[in-house]
Amino acid sequence: MSEIFYTPLKQIRDQILKRDVKARHVTELFLTRCRDLNPKFNAYITLSDKALEQAEAVDKAIEKGEKVGPLAGVPLAIKDMLCTKGLKTTAASKILNNFIPPYSSTVVERLEGAGAITIGKTNMDEFAMGSSNENSNYGPVKNPWDESAVPGGSSGGSAAAVAAGMAAGAIGTDTGGSIRQPANFCGIVGIKPTYGRVSRYGIIAFASSLDQAGPMTRTVEDAALMMEVISGHDAKDSTTAQVPVPEWSKSLKSDLKGMKIGLPKEYFSDEVSEDTKKVVNEALRAVKEAGATTVEVSIPLTGYGVPIYYLIATSEASSNLARYDGVRFGYRSDFSKVPAADLEEFYSRSRGEGFGPEVKRRIMLGTYALSSGYYDAYYRKAGQVRRLLRDEFSAAFQKCDVLLTPVTTAPAFKIGERVSNPLQMYLNDIFTISTNMVGIPGMSVPGGFSASGLPIGVQLSAAHFQEEKMLNVAYAIEKALGAGGRKPNGL
Ligand code: GLN
Repeated sequence: MSEIFYTPLKQIRDQILKRDVKARHVTELFLTRCRDLNPKFNAYITLSDKALEQAEAVDKAIEKGEKVGPLAGVPLAIKDMLCTKGLKTTAASKILNNFIPPYSSTVVERLEGAGAITIGKTNMDEFAMGSSNENSNYGPVKNPWDESAVPGGSSGGSAAAVAAGMAAGAIGTDTGGSIRQPANFCGIVGIKPTYGRVSRYGIIAFASSLDQAGPMTRTVEDAALMMEVISGHDAKDSTTAQVPVPEWSKSLKSDLKGMKIGLPKEYFSDEVSEDTKKVVNEALRAVKEAGATTVEVSIPLTGYGVPIYYLIATSEASSNLARYDGVRFGYRSDFSKVPAADLEEFYSRSRGEGFGPEVKRRIMLGTYALSSGYYDAYYRKAGQVRRLLRDEFSAAFQKCDVLLTPVTTAPAFKIGERVSNPLQMYLNDIFTISTNMVGIPGMSVPGGFSASGLPIGVQLSAAHFQEEKMLNVAYAIEKALGAGGRKPNGL
């Protein structure tokens, strides 16, 4: 039964529905594997003690002939950024190390409502701030393809869990690349939906105008299936759009006749490594063979993506993170021996001890950008550039259906390699950040491997709510190159 760990989740579901295997048995197998492998990869912060119960409920419903959802019995890993009722949710921060939410996020509710089993909460960069998973209060995550390499971030635990066969699929969140970049580094599929496609209710807020949750899976079809379950308007999140949710998993096709693929020239710079170029070129050949044509486009403001992101995202974060004050919930400093002289000291001691260095850096940057006298020069100006960037993408989508680019300049880097240089770490997101700034959907699909055997993905993006086009191109690449869903050596 060891193949089950690398079986697409749709097939696991079908086996459960056909009663070839019980959901409880599947969950038990995955939980055991998680316990065995977690000390090595550190992908999970918490394993759920309710997973078996949930699986038994699915088995009972199937036995009784009741209607079960499209994810019946599928064990999923949930990023620790999403609230799960009764199950510890930390955002990988000390400041939430004792937080047990009284409610679940809409995403988790919808997944569980569709029969999915939450097997655990995955490790991540603290408050989703990072690109390597080294900013976690619970220690770094290792890449299943190379334990000395990072899995990417901030959804590194979710990516590693899927790549190591410790979950059939996962949920990540993406504010500037945090689903696509780790999917790219770990050889799996990852989708950041259009802003407004998926409810943010119950997801710990980092930068509210950028955050979206999305699936991380072995196959494009699995990701499409999860997208169908989590997408759609939610009365609890007024930024969710009132648009129909297509049945993407049923309309996937690898025939790309009539499809125009745009290649933004700024994304094909000299900084892109030879390994990455090779994989992206193979993907290009594949889409052309599938009937698509290509056209060069231009996004001249690409270079401004990182600077404006680090003004807007940090500004929103400084405001969102103000709620962690040690009063209502989360970590509070021990005042029993040395009491706080006043309220300000109460806040600053709890926050000073509870937040890690990267989160503090972001809060300071954002507070500065929003402060009186600097607001116009930084926050407002960044917003204006953001608008221009949106116009450039709209112009590009007049000429093409889908953009195809590298996800990052190079495959996974080594643990420790970039920790001392935040700017170098930030620049890692240059190709993924604009997607969030503009609000369009983006994804990473496995394309191939580097000379040293590390996975490399290909990034696709489309105009707002055009996920279907992007998914079809991904499907064609997956079929032609067959680089996804593989098992790393030694696992
Ligand atoms: N790496 C980016 C950052 O550190 C993006 C993070 C994300 O998408 N959550 O902010």
